[in-house]
Amino acid sequence: MNDPVFVKKYNVPGPRYTSYPTVPFWKKNPLTESEWNKALGEFTQSYDHQFVSIYIHLPFCESLCTFCGCHKRITKNHQVETPYIFALKKEWELYVKSFGFQPQIKELHLGGGTPTFFAADAIIDLLTAIFGKNTIQPEECELSFEAHPGSTSEEHLQKLFDFGFRRVSFGIQDYDPIVQTAIHRIQSFELVKSVHDLAKQIGYTSINHDLVFGLPKQDMRALMKTIDLTLELKPERIALYSYAHVPWIKGTGQRGYSEADLPQDNEKRALYETAYAKLIDSGYLAIGMDHFALPDDGLSKAFNQKKLHRNFMGYTTKSTNWMIGLGMSAISDCWIGFAQNDKTVEGYQEQINKGIIPVFRGHLLTDTELLIRKHILDLMCHFETSFSTDKQCQHIYDGIIQRLQPLLDDQLACLENQTVTITEKGLPFVRNVCMAFDLDLIQTEIGKQLFSKTI
Ligand code: SF4
Repeated sequence: MNDPVFVKKYNVPGPRYTSYPTVPFWKKNPLTESEWNKALGEFTQSYDHQFVSIYIHLPFCESLCTFCGCHKRITKNHQVETPYIFALKKEWELYVKSFGFQPQIKELHLGGGTPTFFAADAIIDLLTAIFGKNTIQPEECELSFEAHPGSTSEEHLQKLFDFGFRRVSFGIQDYDPIVQTAIHRIQSFELVKSVHDLAKQIGYTSINHDLVFGLPKQDMRALMKTIDLTLELKPERIALYSYAHVPWIKGTGQRGYSEADLPQDNEKRALYETAYAKLIDSGYLAIGMDHFALPDDGLSKAFNQKKLHRNFMGYTTKSTNWMIGLGMSAISDCWIGFAQNDKTVEGYQEQINKGIIPVFRGHLLTDTELLIRKHILDLMCHFETSFSTDKQCQHIYDGIIQRLQPLLDDQLACLENQTVTITEKGLPFVRNVCMAFDLDLIQTEIGKQLFSKTI
């Protein structure tokens, strides 16, 4: 599977496509609250909006992990919880007022930062306000949260389960002590095992472990040991992310080690492929990009039934046409537009306290962008997409096919009956196939400075 020639040829900077257009190409900066409300109004007039997804960003962490690319605030002061939860409740109130109706929540995810930084009661207080009188049926509404093994208590697990949560995702990264020291994230296997087992006993039916390959000081031995330990616990889902090295964007955190500490190109690709083979041999199915799930898990079923969806939360089984992001830096998506909230805790809270939905930038999609968005989503979720026979789009498709040609020649993708399919050999290069569709990327060199490498 690992062809060094392809790795060398295609390991170029490229987006991860949680959105199209990707954030660096958004054109509305600033985006005002009234422009965003107008886009939401247009969306609810034209698209099915009965069900909504909610993402809540809980940004505080007690300690900095140096590899981290998330929007977070490092603090040990837990007094920050109360005003932040107040602001989140108020933000949802502002949204419901602007919609003029209470949408039905189909999916809600708590991300961060560290959601388990917050006391269990504070989280329950927030969710009770958001759901209002709506009852939660775990089969109908998927609730999930990201948990730091070091700060997840039995109370968190139990109270969130009682509220309706059945999915939890533990941030593991790597178990090797040398890697853990390099990324400043010290947590033993015993600690992870104890919270994992507790979640199982309580009744969580889908546990995910986040692992990362390509970390500083990580070698084959370290990653294989991490995979072996993960397999001992056999979580229903495993995400194996590529470490994104972008110190020019993420500032001091990612400067705590040098480029020389990072596995590069073929060495990095070999880490992924050996881990991939081990996970497949152990009964996991490869889902979309970087994800693995046991055959009975909802993610595998959604993938097999071509119902997988991708949004700013990553891959998801519940497809809705819109997602509202609450909290500092959170991104909302109403299919025809995106909006991002203020990226500082202070700025976010200040706007909310003035009664303003705190968006600061975004993008309103053109018809062509909507077309490309659908193709990229299909490629990322199902590894194939079909061109329409619409003559007006022909010039766009001609350009895409031209840019795809090297990947077609290398048999990483094939084109038959107006359908582009990514071949098994091409799976590591999904992002590269999407890049052939990305009209922004071909018009500018900017992407070369903004994105991490595709492998
Ligand atoms: S990896 Fe998680 S816990 Fe660590 S700094 Fe980033 S958001 Fe916080």
